[in-house]
Amino acid sequence: MTGPTVQDRYAGALMNTFGPPRLTLVRGEGARVWDDAGREYLDLFGGIAVNALGHAHPALVDAVTSQLRTLGHVSNFFATEPQVALAQRLLDLLRPADAGGRVFFANSGAEANEAALKLTRRTGRTHVVAAEGSFHGRTMGALALTHKPALREPFEPLPGDVTWVPYGDPDALSAAVTDRTAAVVLEPIQGEAGVVVPPPGYLSAARTIATQHGALLWLDEVQTGVGRTGEWFAHESSVQPDVVTLAKGLGGGIPIGACVGLGDAGSLLGPGDHGSTFGGNPVATAAALAVIDTIEKESLLLAARERGAQLTAALSAAGQVVDVTGRGLLLAARLADATAPQVVTRAQERGFLLNNTGPDRLRFAPPLTVTERDLARFADAWSDLATLEEQP
Ligand code: PLP
Repeated sequence: MTGPTVQDRYAGALMNTFGPPRLTLVRGEGARVWDDAGREYLDLFGGIAVNALGHAHPALVDAVTSQLRTLGHVSNFFATEPQVALAQRLLDLLRPADAGGRVFFANSGAEANEAALKLTRRTGRTHVVAAEGSFHGRTMGALALTHKPALREPFEPLPGDVTWVPYGDPDALSAAVTDRTAAVVLEPIQGEAGVVVPPPGYLSAARTIATQHGALLWLDEVQTGVGRTGEWFAHESSVQPDVVTLAKGLGGGIPIGACVGLGDAGSLLGPGDHGSTFGGNPVATAAALAVIDTIEKESLLLAARERGAQLTAALSAAGQVVDVTGRGLLLAARLADATAPQVVTRAQERGFLLNNTGPDRLRFAPPLTVTERDLARFADAWSDLATLEEQP
């Protein structure tokens, strides 16, 4: 007799916040994972844009195991070398050499955004301007800035004094920001909304508008940051934000988040203003350093651009695809019909893990290490996968 499956045990033991899991996965290597029946899948959404180095990358495994063997956790009463090295590295990547700045480490995207929201309160102002379609996380502060009413409304009242503006429209932004605005918070590309890219110049306009009113420009790069779009960060290099939040790809699968305050914004939070037991943990920060080093050593920014171009061409070749949006390896294909959930199911049956952000939109965020051959194999299957009749 066989006992209950992992899926049965899951249903009895975990809160039902995610619905039933699609599969039970047991192992991963590179861009491939295996389920409990031994079936292999090409992972084309990388743990929702997290597994930048793929699964079980030796550099990440070595960094984590050797740090854990050396010093695993000490709390924020003490400093550790990887924590400081990672903060310096992020500042070097994010700002001109002579500009100041400081980092607060958290453990997830929502937590990085909580820290940033508290930081904005230290301007003495409370008003925040956020964009329609935004997703900033599920904790109460991050949720207050997340646009989708179905996610927010059951948990109101939420902290905040938030004005929503249509994403990508500088005039609407200009009309909403006032001298009592603490911050403008924007994703440089909206991931959860379906990989929505704003028109060129939008972030520069946001910078100008925020500066005119003494407000902070806070860019949420939780999904887009650390190489995902083929650059270190998705915001145009000409735009200098005050606050950048990071998570997901930063740890390559080890939980970590970062709230980076640039220039004077880095000094807004002072002693006692915020904290986290695990934030800046040596294992998590060693993991993030290994991710950044490996992106450099293996030229994964270039790879993300090249593989992104390959995947864009492959996706566009299917007649069902209306358009492909995104940059690097954060892409979405919009389908002519509302068949995305069925395409996901069929793809899984054929050994490809996909993700849909809406009824007609599929999001792709494979490991930055995905190979040309992996994507060629997907390209061969794609037209057939995408061609599905809409279910009545
Ligand atoms: N911000 C953005 C832009 C995101 O895409 C996400 C997650 O999808 C979050 C914040 C929340 O991150 P986490 O799920 O790690 O809390």
